[in-house]
Amino acid sequence: MTPDPVTAMKFGTGLILAVKSLLAAKDSYDKQHIDLLRTKTQMLVELVETYKEENENLITENTKLHQELSRVSVSEHFVESRTVLFKRNVDGTYSNIPHCPTCKTHMSSINPSMPYRCNNKDCGYVSSLKGRDLKSALPSE
Ligand SMILES: [Zn+2]
Repeated sequence: MTPDPVTAMKFGTGLILAVKSLLAAKDSYDKQHIDLLRTKTQMLVELVETYKEENENLITENTKLHQELSRVSVSEHFVESRTVLFKRNVDGTYSNIPHCPTCKTHMSSINPSMPYRCNNKDCGYVSSLKGRDLKSALPSE
């Protein structure tokens, strides 16, 4: 059975209005969704900036603490004498092996007339203390 033209026209017009309404709702939904995503993205950007600043502050503080720890550690465990470090033993005496002031690695002199050099190849520190002057450089207890 074929609908009459007026009914078909009403049905068609109603259908077009329904589709337009759905499209408008979809556009509105999309706009709301996009706005929500923009808001959340902005919040994340602000959060990243906050964490970035906090991280930079922590890195600075950590660097200072490492420097302080290194300074305290050296003063508690080593004594400097004539451009090298000597390790303090538990009994208050000192090791007779020079240590590098830069990396705390053992140092050696290949003969009495040569200066002590750091054994760490990556460091390369060379002291002014020569092999023959070791005994005079040892700290007194
Ligand atoms: Zn060294």
